Amino acid sequence: MGKVSKPEPFKIKMVEPIKLISRQEREEALKRAGYNVFALRADEVYIDLLTDSGTGAMSDNQWAGIMLGDESYAGSKNYYNLIDTCKEIFNYEYFIPTHQGRGAEKVLFPLLISKPGQYVLSNMHFDTTKAHVELANARAVDLVIQEAFDTSSFHPFKGNIDIEKLEKFIREKGSENIAFIVITVTCNSAGGQPVSMQNIRETSQLAKKYGIHVFLDAARYAENAYFIKYREKGYADKSIKDIVQEMFSYADGFTMSAKKDAIVNMGGLIGIKDDEELYNQARANLVPLEGFPTYGGLSGRDIEAMARGLKEGIELDYLEYRIGQVEYLGNKLRAADIPIQYPVGGHAVFVDAKKMLPHIPYYQFPAQALANALYLESGVRAVEIGSLMLGRDPDTGEQLESPLELLRLTIPRRVYTNNHMDYVAESLIEVNKIAHTLKGLEFVYEPKILRHFTAKLKPIE
Ligand SMILES: *Cc1c(COP(=O)(O)O)cnc(C)c1O
Repeated sequence: MGKVSKPEPFKIKMVEPIKLISRQEREEALKRAGYNVFALRADEVYIDLLTDSGTGAMSDNQWAGIMLGDESYAGSKNYYNLIDTCKEIFNYEYFIPTHQGRGAEKVLFPLLISKPGQYVLSNMHFDTTKAHVELANARAVDLVIQEAFDTSSFHPFKGNIDIEKLEKFIREKGSENIAFIVITVTCNSAGGQPVSMQNIRETSQLAKKYGIHVFLDAARYAENAYFIKYREKGYADKSIKDIVQEMFSYADGFTMSAKKDAIVNMGGLIGIKDDEELYNQARANLVPLEGFPTYGGLSGRDIEAMARGLKEGIELDYLEYRIGQVEYLGNKLRAADIPIQYPVGGHAVFVDAKKMLPHIPYYQFPAQALANALYLESGVRAVEIGSLMLGRDPDTGEQLESPLELLRLTIPRRVYTNNHMDYVAESLIEVNKIAHTLKGLEFVYEPKILRHFTAKLKPIE
């Protein structure tokens, strides 16, 4: 189509009205919420970029599948459709549905950790992944490449594991003290940054050498495959499905939140390549935690929507639109000299609040101050990924300094148009003009764990 850029690959059959409440109402809402956007009511938000998890819009085909839900307790036809779909996409032997990604982690991880104190190594652990490693009495270690922490320099695969550091760590601690390696694709915590095929392959080869199993945290596996197609040599002519199959061929299994690339509002998956014993153990574990192995905490209709969503999530037209929209927002911000994690990742644009608000120190939470200012200016809700989320050192109680202070503008799948993205960009550009006047925050109420969800704050006068 030459230079004409393609619009969204769908037309809209049903709409959900949104409304911008007045500036004064936003001020009152934010104050009531303790300057923490998690505590806002969703109808006080105009454009909601809090997360891309479970917030996507299902297709007419998925909704049609909802009507075909077979609510049999055991062996529903939707379960068998899911298993067939998964075999076709991932080329593994065994799959187990779960109610969401953390359900998969909770069921699988204890089976992979053979003694307390073992290490689980990753490019970067997602927060629930880290929590389930720790609940299983293991220790989570992040070994992403250093380039992930430099937001302004280009690197095509900032989600890569540092292979040298990985081997050094394994040698130092001894392979018997490593429970498993988990590669997060794309690497959420580094800004939705992809992992290259070469890096997945090398990690797998190294793991084999030391007899360690590799698992994928596969929430955004399709977006990762798309980046491999366009950024890695040798993949331009391969289909997304072929790339996905090669990625998964290097792992022994995966856990997945289906609320991301499988475009459902609720769902998760465990995949196991060929280890029948592990599969049987996981199925046994599933029963008390999630439910009978053919429903795993979901209704038949949810499973049908997931099976259909998995197929839609790897369509090239869809992925082009999806990643294109994230890039569109990123490019608008970069053109206005707003510092962002560059190049943009798969599911969000990450604004570098440390650079935008250099006068606010990490312990006064610059990205949170930015989130609040953006909400006041425009009704847009985004989320802090920085020192507020990181928390305190469990031993000394001291506030930890996050290497990055980011404001994540997370884009739900198929929900907003590029006109919405224009509004978000223009609002942030307005906030940038008054950035030097924004104030840091201090706690009014600070819960002990996962404090960023429920903390109450106030601006420091
Ligand atoms: C969302 C997510 C999870 C957890 O999945 P839930 O469905 O939210 O329980 C785990 N890992 C990654 C990388 C995720 O993005």
